[in-house]
Amino acid sequence: MTFEDFNFDEQLFEGLQSMGYRKPTAIQEQAIPLILEHKDLIACAQTGTGKTASYLLPVLQHISQSEKKYTKALILAPTRELAQQIDQQVEGLAYFAGISSIAVYGGGDGIVYEQQRRAMIDGVDIIIATPGRLIAQLASGVIKLDHVEYLVLDEADRMLDMGFYDDLLRIISNIPEKRQTLLFSATMPPKIRVLANTILKNPEQVNIALSQPAVGIHQQVYMTYDPQKIPLITGLLKDATYTSVLIFASRKETVKDLTKALRRVGVKAEAFHSDLEQDQRETILRAFKSRTLPVIIGTDVLSRGIDIEGISLVINFDVPPDPEDYIHRIGRTARAETTGTAITFVNERDQRKFSSIENLIGKAIERMVLPEELGEGPTYNPAAKSKNHSKHKKSWGHKKKPEKK
Ligand code: AMP
Repeated sequence: MTFEDFNFDEQLFEGLQSMGYRKPTAIQEQAIPLILEHKDLIACAQTGTGKTASYLLPVLQHISQSEKKYTKALILAPTRELAQQIDQQVEGLAYFAGISSIAVYGGGDGIVYEQQRRAMIDGVDIIIATPGRLIAQLASGVIKLDHVEYLVLDEADRMLDMGFYDDLLRIISNIPEKRQTLLFSATMPPKIRVLANTILKNPEQVNIALSQPAVGIHQQVYMTYDPQKIPLITGLLKDATYTSVLIFASRKETVKDLTKALRRVGVKAEAFHSDLEQDQRETILRAFKSRTLPVIIGTDVLSRGIDIEGISLVINFDVPPDPEDYIHRIGRTARAETTGTAITFVNERDQRKFSSIENLIGKAIERMVLPEELGEGPTYNPAAKSKNHSKHKKSWGHKKKPEKK
């Protein structure tokens, strides 16, 4: 199949060519014809599959044929980073078609808020918004969604995880019932089905099997006790010649503590989490992309949707809560057929979660031996119940103690 098969308008076709898209991806082959036929759709596909263009292209095609005076499409996304990225794809694809869009997200200053407000008053064609900020703009009364014909929920599972269910329903109650609704989600837990039953009409469904980590990723694991993790990571970062490193931790507090610890030993690192202002986040990502900042330490806010090329090393300071998040996190490296390394630290409590990851990816990850000076790590025994957890913790003192930094 080629893009010619979809009979897009010439300007849209030029747009996708200028973006360098030569051939539709699997999700695009399946979703585009259904969306062009005005069907509602549930699509199970994650970042990296080309899912964004799979809904943008047909929606842009629809819009280019209708009167341009009102907002006709609303795209809801969980994070400001994803909203911005979608907006950038709209700008690229719609460049020749002259379709306007704005990303509406929180965290900006008063000027940004005012720009967003103005664009909405002026009837921008497409609004891409995070639910929280859109609710705020709706409350201010300037925004009109009563001509919206296309509603897209991108990364719907993440939006529900972030507690946006009620906000989503509130927003949707402002949109005409006669519309086309497209729901994209990386996972399909029961709550997504409930949402889909509430807001979609006779939807078609497409599933793109969870993509396995790229073959170019060299995956490794260290079994570690918590106090061994910081000496281990500082050793790894000092020895190696990694240029761009992403470190993931599940909690904000861990991200902050780890950033301080790494800075103390001279590693140039920045923390990336939801407490930061929008411009701080952008500055960090810019520095990272331009290679002036070698290390970012972040929560899973970083793991989805962020499209950064050339990351050589991903370290999971702890095991992600959901095995699929492992694939999202390590998918930040070895993009576009390059190679990269992904290292995961597994303490005694995370062993079960780690074994689910190995089950999901269907192979054993290479076991690494801790440097001798750190002593032995915990024995791998994922079947051990966490009721032994406190016992394990106390008995740690019997082991050879790692050096405290
Ligand atoms: P997504 O899964 O939407 O986050 O897209 C992942 C990346 O693939 C983005 O950088 C897109 O610009 C790119 N992309 C989307 N569709 C295509 C295509 N047909 N050919 C090449 N690249 C694409």
